[in-house]
Amino acid sequence: MKTGTGFLRRAFALLLCFLLLIPPVASVAAGNGKQNVDVNRSDSLSRLFRDKPEFCLFCGRLHTGFAGALTHFFHDVAYFFCGIVGRYPAEGRMVFTLETLSIGADEPFYFIHAGDTHVGFIDERDAGDERLMETAKRREGDWPAALRTLDDLCVKAKELDAMIVHTGDLIDFVSEKNLDYARDFTAHNDVFACAGNHEYHVYIWDDGEDAPRRERVAEKVQSAFTNDIRFSARVEHGVKFIAVDNSFHTVEQWQADRFKEELADGMPAVLALHVPVYAPDIFEFQMTKLDYPHPAWLMAVPEELMAEYNYEQQWIDEQKANDATKEFYDLIVNAPNLKAILVGHDHANFVSQVTPTLKQYMVACDQGQIFFVN
Ligand SMILES: [Zn+2]
Ligand SMILES: [Zn+2]
Repeated sequence: MKTGTGFLRRAFALLLCFLLLIPPVASVAAGNGKQNVDVNRSDSLSRLFRDKPEFCLFCGRLHTGFAGALTHFFHDVAYFFCGIVGRYPAEGRMVFTLETLSIGADEPFYFIHAGDTHVGFIDERDAGDERLMETAKRREGDWPAALRTLDDLCVKAKELDAMIVHTGDLIDFVSEKNLDYARDFTAHNDVFACAGNHEYHVYIWDDGEDAPRRERVAEKVQSAFTNDIRFSARVEHGVKFIAVDNSFHTVEQWQADRFKEELADGMPAVLALHVPVYAPDIFEFQMTKLDYPHPAWLMAVPEELMAEYNYEQQWIDEQKANDATKEFYDLIVNAPNLKAILVGHDHANFVSQVTPTLKQYMVACDQGQIFFVN
Protein backbone atom coordinates (compact mmCIF):
# COMPACT_ATOMS: atom_id res chain seq x y z
CA MET A 1 0.00 0.00 0.00
CA LYS A 2 2.90 2.28 0.86
CA THR A 3 4.33 1.95 -2.67
CA GLY A 4 0.90 2.59 -4.15
CA THR A 5 0.47 5.87 -2.24
CA GLY A 6 3.93 7.05 -3.31
CA PHE A 7 3.15 6.25 -6.92
CA LEU A 8 -0.15 8.12 -6.74
CA ARG A 9 1.50 11.14 -5.15
CA ARG A 10 4.20 11.29 -7.81
CA ALA A 11 1.69 10.77 -10.59
CA PHE A 12 -0.46 13.56 -9.17
CA ALA A 13 2.55 15.90 -8.94
CA LEU A 14 3.58 15.09 -12.50
CA LEU A 15 0.05 15.70 -13.77
CA LEU A 16 -0.03 19.05 -11.98
CA CYS A 17 3.33 20.03 -13.43
CA PHE A 18 2.05 19.12 -16.86
CA LEU A 19 -1.09 21.24 -16.39
CA LEU A 20 0.98 24.16 -15.14
CA LEU A 21 3.20 23.89 -18.21
CA ILE A 22 0.34 24.21 -20.67
CA PRO A 23 -0.15 28.02 -20.43
CA PRO A 24 3.51 29.03 -20.96
CA VAL A 25 4.13 26.51 -23.69
CA ALA A 26 0.85 27.40 -25.40
CA SER A 27 1.72 31.08 -25.12
CA VAL A 28 5.10 30.53 -26.76
CA ALA A 29 3.59 28.27 -29.42
CA ALA A 30 0.93 30.86 -30.22
CA GLY A 31 3.62 33.49 -30.67
CA ASN A 32 2.30 35.63 -27.81
CA GLY A 33 4.54 37.56 -25.48
CA LYS A 34 7.98 38.84 -26.11
CA GLN A 35 9.87 36.34 -28.15
CA ASN A 36 13.07 38.28 -28.04
CA VAL A 37 13.74 37.53 -24.38
CA ASP A 38 17.23 36.21 -24.56
CA VAL A 39 18.19 35.71 -20.97
CA ASN A 40 19.94 32.39 -20.58
CA ARG A 41 17.96 30.44 -17.97
CA SER A 42 18.92 26.98 -19.16
CA ASP A 43 20.25 26.18 -15.69
CA SER A 44 16.76 26.42 -14.18
CA LEU A 45 17.53 23.86 -11.47
CA SER A 46 20.60 25.67 -10.21
CA ARG A 47 18.72 28.98 -10.44
CA LEU A 48 16.10 27.57 -8.12
CA PHE A 49 18.61 26.33 -5.61
CA ARG A 50 21.44 28.86 -5.92
CA ASP A 51 19.54 31.90 -4.73
CA LYS A 52 16.51 30.12 -3.32
CA PRO A 53 14.43 33.18 -4.13
CA GLU A 54 11.37 33.66 -1.96
CA PHE A 55 9.54 35.08 -4.93
CA CYS A 56 8.30 32.79 -7.65
CA LEU A 57 10.52 32.53 -10.72
CA PHE A 58 7.63 30.93 -12.60
CA CYS A 59 4.91 33.56 -12.09
CA GLY A 60 6.93 36.39 -10.50
CA ARG A 61 4.75 36.69 -7.40
CA LEU A 62 5.24 36.26 -3.69
CA HIS A 63 3.24 33.27 -2.44
CA THR A 64 2.27 33.50 1.21
CA GLY A 65 0.60 31.19 3.69
CA PHE A 66 0.18 27.43 3.50
CA ALA A 67 -1.64 27.42 0.15
CA GLY A 68 1.02 29.80 -1.16
CA ALA A 69 3.80 27.46 -0.10
CA LEU A 70 2.12 24.63 -2.00
CA THR A 71 1.66 26.78 -5.08
CA HIS A 72 5.28 27.89 -4.84
CA PHE A 73 6.42 24.27 -4.69
CA PHE A 74 4.52 23.31 -7.84
CA HIS A 75 5.64 26.48 -9.61
CA ASP A 76 9.25 25.60 -8.77
CA VAL A 77 8.72 22.21 -10.39
CA ALA A 78 7.07 23.87 -13.39
CA TYR A 79 10.00 26.29 -13.68
CA PHE A 80 12.37 23.35 -13.69
CA PHE A 81 10.37 21.72 -16.49
CA CYS A 82 10.51 25.02 -18.41
CA GLY A 83 14.27 24.61 -18.28
CA ILE A 84 14.03 21.12 -19.72
CA VAL A 85 11.94 22.25 -22.68
CA GLY A 86 13.90 25.50 -22.97
CA ARG A 87 10.77 27.68 -22.88
CA TYR A 88 9.79 30.10 -20.15
CA PRO A 89 6.67 32.22 -19.64
CA ALA A 90 7.48 35.42 -21.51
CA GLU A 91 5.08 37.81 -19.81
CA GLY A 92 6.80 40.01 -17.26
CA ARG A 93 10.26 39.13 -18.46
CA MET A 94 12.87 41.72 -19.22
CA VAL A 95 13.63 42.55 -22.84
CA PHE A 96 17.16 43.55 -23.76
CA THR A 97 18.37 45.76 -26.59
CA LEU A 98 21.93 46.37 -27.67
CA GLU A 99 23.56 49.74 -28.35
CA THR A 100 27.16 50.58 -29.17
CA LEU A 101 28.92 53.59 -27.67
CA SER A 102 32.20 54.38 -29.43
CA ILE A 103 33.63 56.91 -27.03
CA GLY A 104 37.29 55.98 -26.62
CA ALA A 105 37.33 53.35 -23.86
CA ASP A 106 40.73 51.85 -22.97
CA GLU A 107 39.30 48.44 -23.80
CA PRO A 108 35.84 47.26 -24.86
CA PHE A 109 33.33 46.43 -22.12
CA TYR A 110 29.62 46.03 -21.48
CA PHE A 111 27.28 47.72 -19.06
CA ILE A 112 23.51 47.40 -18.72
CA HIS A 113 21.17 50.33 -18.19
CA ALA A 114 17.88 49.66 -16.42
CA GLY A 115 15.53 51.61 -14.19
CA ASP A 116 12.09 52.06 -12.66
CA THR A 117 11.80 48.55 -11.28
CA HIS A 118 9.36 49.73 -8.57
CA VAL A 119 9.68 46.81 -6.19
CA GLY A 120 6.66 47.24 -3.91
CA PHE A 121 6.26 44.95 -0.90
CA ILE A 122 5.70 45.27 2.80
CA ASP A 123 5.87 42.93 5.78
CA GLU A 124 5.10 42.86 9.49
CA ARG A 125 8.02 45.18 10.35
CA ASP A 126 5.98 48.07 8.94
CA ALA A 127 2.64 46.88 10.32
CA GLY A 128 2.61 49.66 12.93
CA ASP A 129 2.43 52.31 10.23
CA GLU A 130 -1.16 52.25 9.03
CA ARG A 131 -0.64 54.87 6.34
CA LEU A 132 2.22 52.85 4.90
CA MET A 133 0.18 49.65 4.99
CA GLU A 134 -2.60 51.48 3.17
CA THR A 135 -0.11 52.80 0.58
CA ALA A 136 1.23 49.30 -0.03
CA LYS A 137 -2.32 48.01 -0.45
CA ARG A 138 -3.10 50.80 -2.93
CA ARG A 139 0.01 50.00 -4.99
CA GLU A 140 -0.34 46.23 -4.73
CA GLY A 141 -0.28 44.57 -8.11
CA ASP A 142 0.91 47.69 -9.98
CA TRP A 143 4.31 46.14 -10.64
CA PRO A 144 3.69 42.38 -10.48
CA ALA A 145 6.79 41.50 -12.49
CA ALA A 146 9.26 43.72 -10.61
CA LEU A 147 11.16 40.92 -8.92
CA ARG A 148 11.29 38.80 -12.01
CA THR A 149 12.65 41.62 -14.16
CA LEU A 150 15.22 42.29 -11.44
CA ASP A 151 16.16 38.63 -11.53
CA ASP A 152 16.51 38.68 -15.33
CA LEU A 153 18.72 41.72 -14.99
CA CYS A 154 20.98 39.89 -12.54
CA VAL A 155 21.23 36.86 -14.85
CA LYS A 156 22.11 39.01 -17.87
CA ALA A 157 24.66 41.07 -15.95
CA LYS A 158 26.41 37.91 -14.76
CA GLU A 159 26.38 36.48 -18.28
CA LEU A 160 28.09 39.61 -19.66
CA ASP A 161 30.14 40.34 -16.55
CA ALA A 162 28.58 43.79 -16.78
CA MET A 163 28.04 46.65 -14.38
CA ILE A 164 24.37 47.57 -13.96
CA VAL A 165 23.60 51.29 -14.14
CA HIS A 166 20.23 51.67 -12.42
CA THR A 167 18.63 55.06 -12.98
CA GLY A 168 16.31 55.10 -10.00
CA ASP A 169 12.91 54.01 -8.68
CA LEU A 170 14.36 50.64 -7.78
CA ILE A 171 11.80 50.62 -4.99
CA ASP A 172 8.25 51.95 -5.23
CA PHE A 173 8.07 53.22 -1.65
CA VAL A 174 10.22 53.06 1.46
CA SER A 175 9.50 49.89 3.43
CA GLU A 176 11.80 47.50 5.26
CA LYS A 177 10.94 44.75 2.81
CA ASN A 178 11.69 46.88 -0.25
CA LEU A 179 14.99 48.03 1.21
CA ASP A 180 15.90 44.38 1.82
CA TYR A 181 15.38 43.69 -1.88
CA ALA A 182 17.46 46.73 -2.84
CA ARG A 183 20.19 45.68 -0.40
CA ASP A 184 20.24 42.17 -1.79
CA PHE A 185 20.33 43.42 -5.39
CA THR A 186 23.21 45.82 -4.80
CA ALA A 187 25.16 43.33 -2.66
CA HIS A 188 25.10 40.56 -5.28
CA ASN A 189 25.64 42.64 -8.41
CA ASP A 190 27.93 45.43 -9.51
CA VAL A 191 25.33 48.19 -9.32
CA PHE A 192 25.93 51.89 -9.92
CA ALA A 193 22.74 53.76 -9.08
CA CYS A 194 21.26 57.21 -8.81
CA ALA A 195 18.19 57.97 -6.72
CA GLY A 196 14.72 58.08 -8.23
CA ASN A 197 11.88 60.09 -6.72
CA HIS A 198 10.29 56.88 -5.40
CA GLU A 199 13.41 56.13 -3.36
CA TYR A 200 12.20 58.97 -1.13
CA HIS A 201 8.47 58.29 -1.24
CA VAL A 202 6.90 56.78 1.83
CA TYR A 203 3.18 57.27 1.31
CA ILE A 204 3.38 58.24 -2.42
CA TRP A 205 1.81 61.37 -3.87
CA ASP A 206 0.43 62.50 -0.53
CA ASP A 207 2.47 65.69 -0.63
CA GLY A 208 5.10 67.40 -2.76
CA GLU A 209 8.65 66.40 -3.56
CA ASP A 210 11.07 68.53 -1.62
CA ALA A 211 14.27 68.37 0.42
CA PRO A 212 12.57 67.84 3.82
CA ARG A 213 10.69 64.84 2.43
CA ARG A 214 13.95 63.38 1.12
CA GLU A 215 15.87 64.06 4.33
CA ARG A 216 13.34 62.12 6.40
CA VAL A 217 14.39 58.84 4.79
CA ALA A 218 17.62 59.55 2.86
CA GLU A 219 20.00 57.90 5.31
CA LYS A 220 17.90 54.79 5.69
CA VAL A 221 17.49 54.39 1.92
CA GLN A 222 21.18 55.05 1.26
CA SER A 223 22.06 52.12 3.52
CA ALA A 224 20.59 49.75 0.91
CA PHE A 225 22.95 50.94 -1.85
CA THR A 226 26.68 50.50 -2.39
CA ASN A 227 27.35 53.88 -4.02
CA ASP A 228 26.18 57.33 -2.96
CA ILE A 229 22.88 57.69 -4.81
CA ARG A 230 22.92 61.49 -4.52
CA PHE A 231 26.27 61.86 -6.28
CA SER A 232 28.87 59.31 -7.33
CA ALA A 233 31.63 58.95 -9.90
CA ARG A 234 33.64 55.91 -10.92
CA VAL A 235 35.96 55.04 -13.79
CA GLU A 236 35.55 51.89 -15.90
CA HIS A 237 38.15 51.20 -18.60
CA GLY A 238 38.90 54.87 -19.14
CA VAL A 239 35.25 55.99 -19.08
CA LYS A 240 33.88 57.99 -16.17
CA PHE A 241 30.37 57.19 -14.95
CA ILE A 242 28.69 59.94 -12.97
CA ALA A 243 25.42 59.42 -11.09
CA VAL A 244 23.53 62.51 -9.95
CA ASP A 245 20.28 62.60 -7.99
CA ASN A 246 17.92 64.95 -9.86
CA SER A 247 14.94 62.87 -8.83
CA PHE A 248 12.81 65.84 -7.73
CA HIS A 249 13.45 67.53 -11.12
CA THR A 250 16.18 69.79 -9.75
CA VAL A 251 19.71 69.56 -8.35
CA GLU A 252 21.46 71.45 -5.55
CA GLN A 253 24.48 73.69 -6.01
CA TRP A 254 26.95 71.20 -4.50
CA GLN A 255 25.90 68.65 -7.13
CA ALA A 256 26.47 71.08 -10.01
CA ASP A 257 29.87 71.99 -8.52
CA ARG A 258 30.97 68.39 -8.16
CA PHE A 259 29.74 67.56 -11.65
CA LYS A 260 31.89 70.38 -13.03
CA GLU A 261 34.92 69.04 -11.10
CA GLU A 262 34.39 65.51 -12.39
CA LEU A 263 34.16 66.67 -16.00
CA ALA A 264 37.30 68.80 -15.74
CA ASP A 265 39.79 66.01 -16.49
CA GLY A 266 38.35 65.59 -20.01
CA MET A 267 37.81 61.84 -19.66
CA PRO A 268 34.88 60.50 -21.74
CA ALA A 269 31.90 60.53 -19.40
CA VAL A 270 28.46 58.90 -19.13
CA LEU A 271 25.87 60.58 -16.90
CA ALA A 272 23.16 58.64 -15.04
CA LEU A 273 20.09 60.62 -13.96
CA HIS A 274 16.58 59.68 -12.97
CA VAL A 275 14.71 62.58 -14.60
CA PRO A 276 15.48 63.16 -18.30
CA VAL A 277 16.88 66.56 -19.25
CA TYR A 278 14.95 68.91 -21.50
CA ALA A 279 15.36 68.63 -25.26
CA PRO A 280 12.72 69.58 -27.86
CA ASP A 281 12.21 65.99 -29.07
CA ILE A 282 11.63 64.44 -25.64
CA PHE A 283 9.44 67.39 -24.57
CA GLU A 284 7.23 66.79 -27.60
CA PHE A 285 7.17 63.04 -26.89
CA GLN A 286 6.28 63.54 -23.26
CA MET A 287 3.55 66.10 -23.86
CA THR A 288 1.76 64.06 -26.53
CA LYS A 289 2.04 60.45 -25.40
CA LEU A 290 -0.30 60.69 -22.39
CA ASP A 291 -3.98 61.48 -22.61
CA TYR A 292 -4.42 63.27 -19.30
CA PRO A 293 -3.17 66.63 -18.04
CA HIS A 294 0.41 66.43 -16.85
CA PRO A 295 3.73 68.21 -16.81
CA ALA A 296 6.52 66.93 -19.09
CA TRP A 297 8.31 65.29 -16.13
CA LEU A 298 11.65 66.63 -17.39
CA MET A 299 14.48 68.64 -15.85
CA ALA A 300 15.27 72.22 -16.92
CA VAL A 301 12.25 72.81 -19.13
CA PRO A 302 12.21 76.51 -20.21
CA GLU A 303 9.61 78.34 -18.16
CA GLU A 304 7.71 79.62 -21.19
CA LEU A 305 7.07 75.99 -22.18
CA MET A 306 5.94 75.13 -18.68
CA ALA A 307 3.02 77.49 -19.30
CA GLU A 308 1.54 74.61 -21.34
CA TYR A 309 1.33 72.45 -18.23
CA ASN A 310 -2.18 71.88 -17.10
CA TYR A 311 -1.50 70.54 -13.65
CA GLU A 312 -1.49 71.34 -9.95
CA GLN A 313 0.53 74.51 -9.39
CA GLN A 314 2.54 73.00 -6.55
CA TRP A 315 4.02 70.36 -8.87
CA ILE A 316 4.76 72.89 -11.59
CA ASP A 317 6.54 75.16 -9.12
CA GLU A 318 8.63 72.31 -7.79
CA GLN A 319 9.78 71.41 -11.30
CA LYS A 320 10.96 74.92 -12.19
CA ALA A 321 14.72 74.94 -12.70
CA ASN A 322 16.53 76.75 -9.87
CA ASP A 323 19.91 78.41 -10.49
CA ALA A 324 21.86 75.24 -9.65
CA THR A 325 19.75 73.21 -12.08
CA LYS A 326 20.23 75.78 -14.85
CA GLU A 327 23.98 75.67 -14.26
CA PHE A 328 23.94 71.87 -14.25
CA TYR A 329 22.02 71.86 -17.54
CA ASP A 330 24.50 74.32 -19.11
CA LEU A 331 27.37 72.06 -18.08
CA ILE A 332 25.62 69.06 -19.65
CA VAL A 333 24.97 70.67 -23.03
CA ASN A 334 28.39 72.29 -23.23
CA ALA A 335 30.70 69.47 -22.08
CA PRO A 336 32.51 68.00 -25.10
CA ASN A 337 33.57 64.93 -23.09
CA LEU A 338 30.03 64.05 -21.95
CA LYS A 339 29.16 61.21 -24.35
CA ALA A 340 25.78 59.86 -23.22
CA ILE A 341 23.02 60.37 -20.65
CA LEU A 342 21.05 57.47 -19.19
CA VAL A 343 17.64 58.27 -17.71
CA GLY A 344 14.36 56.75 -16.54
CA HIS A 345 11.36 58.18 -14.65
CA ASP A 346 8.91 58.25 -17.56
CA HIS A 347 8.63 54.48 -18.09
CA ALA A 348 9.07 54.54 -21.86
CA ASN A 349 11.81 53.82 -24.36
CA PHE A 350 13.01 56.93 -26.13
CA VAL A 351 16.32 58.11 -27.51
CA SER A 352 16.57 61.88 -27.38
CA GLN A 353 19.07 64.10 -29.17
CA VAL A 354 20.04 66.67 -26.54
CA THR A 355 22.74 68.30 -28.69
CA PRO A 356 24.01 67.26 -32.15
CA THR A 357 26.64 65.09 -30.41
CA LEU A 358 24.85 64.05 -27.20
CA LYS A 359 22.06 61.49 -26.85
CA GLN A 360 20.06 60.58 -23.79
CA TYR A 361 18.61 57.09 -23.50
CA MET A 362 15.35 56.69 -21.61
CA VAL A 363 14.51 53.15 -20.61
CA ALA A 364 11.15 51.50 -19.80
CA CYS A 365 10.53 49.42 -16.68
CA ASP A 366 10.87 46.00 -18.28
CA GLN A 367 13.60 47.00 -20.70
CA GLY A 368 17.34 46.57 -20.28
CA GLN A 369 19.68 48.46 -22.58
CA ILE A 370 22.96 46.64 -23.03
CA PHE A 371 25.73 49.04 -24.05
CA PHE A 372 28.85 47.79 -25.75
CA VAL A 373 31.44 50.48 -25.09
CA ASN A 374 34.64 50.86 -27.04
ZN1 LIG B 1 9.38 55.17 -12.03
ZN1 LIG C 1 10.36 58.34 -11.12
